[in-house]
Amino acid sequence: MIKKIDHIAIAVQNLQEEIARYRDVLGLEFLGTEVVPEQKVTVAFFQVGDVRIELLEPLSPDSPISAFIEKKGGGLHHLSLEVDDIQACIRQLQEKEVRMIDREPRVGAHNARIAFAHPKSFSGVLYELQQKGDAS
Ligand code: ZN
Repeated sequence: MIKKIDHIAIAVQNLQEEIARYRDVLGLEFLGTEVVPEQKVTVAFFQVGDVRIELLEPLSPDSPISAFIEKKGGGLHHLSLEVDDIQACIRQLQEKEVRMIDREPRVGAHNARIAFAHPKSFSGVLYELQQKGDAS
């Protein structure tokens, strides 16, 4: 049911500074930015082989990313796993007693459908399930 790691998401305080660092210091391919109103973040994308790194900057103080940065100062936020059928995946994980933050998918960047599992179920790691395509 899980196909691959789609992206690694990192919370940052200053997106423009971090974009320059990832592009110019690490030399990664910058793919652009996207505002995701539903998550209250601006996301910058970098390609690293098959995987993307996504930098998340909060759009407002009530963004979940703001709370994370306040607590930890930024850093690794979540790993995203690409799945074929997100509804089926959520159901299967719940049957196996994984705590889900989202019991129904919501809209993420690139109009994908996403759902987060609770980090308590995975030693503190926040996993995002993602089904590509049209969220409408
Ligand atoms: Zn993500």
